[in-house]
Amino acid sequence: MKITAYTTCPECAGAGHRRIILPAGVQELPCQTCRATGDITLDYAWRIKAGKALRRQREKAHLGVRQAAKDMGITVRFLQRLENGGAPKIVYHAMCKRLGINLDQPARQRELA
Ligand SMILES: [Zn+2]
Repeated sequence: MKITAYTTCPECAGAGHRRIILPAGVQELPCQTCRATGDITLDYAWRIKAGKALRRQREKAHLGVRQAAKDMGITVRFLQRLENGGAPKIVYHAMCKRLGINLDQPARQRELA
């Protein structure tokens, strides 16, 4: 039996929806990250964290999504999926190893290192 662990959705803080400010007024839209449940798996939370670390690294190198995707030989769509936590875990392990990113270290320490 596989046990799946969950954690609070980091995008909506567990609310299950997000407030969007439009010219017509404030609208509440279902959170796409947790599919409006307010929770995501620990695995997905880890992948979101890894994707953000990769995005920070790309931005630090002053690379736009188009150029970065071209350099890596992947599509812009896949790069965006990757940076949003939507790729398989093994892809993050490989990329972080290649870029020298240690995900066990908090982001603040990584930036100072
Ligand atoms: Zn959510």
